[in-house]
Amino acid sequence: MAYVISDECISCGACAAECPVSAISEGDGKYVIDAATCIDCGNCANVCPVGAPQGE
Ligand code: SF4
Ligand code: SF4
Repeated sequence: MAYVISDECISCGACAAECPVSAISEGDGKYVIDAATCIDCGNCANVCPVGAPQGE
């Protein structure tokens, strides 16, 4: 189960810089996580200023 970024995302880019497997990229209006690449480390959720990445 990969993390998913909600619509709360303000596209700051902080999560992408902290992802160890480069699973996060800038999408249309928000950043997105490639579910096939995400290893559920939680780094993105820990650095996000608005709590947009949601895990299980
Ligand atoms: Fe990357 Fe970890 Fe976030 Fe998955 S949980 S997108 S591996 S930082
Ligand atoms: Fe969006 Fe949070 Fe990632 Fe910033 S850290 S791009 S607000 S999900």
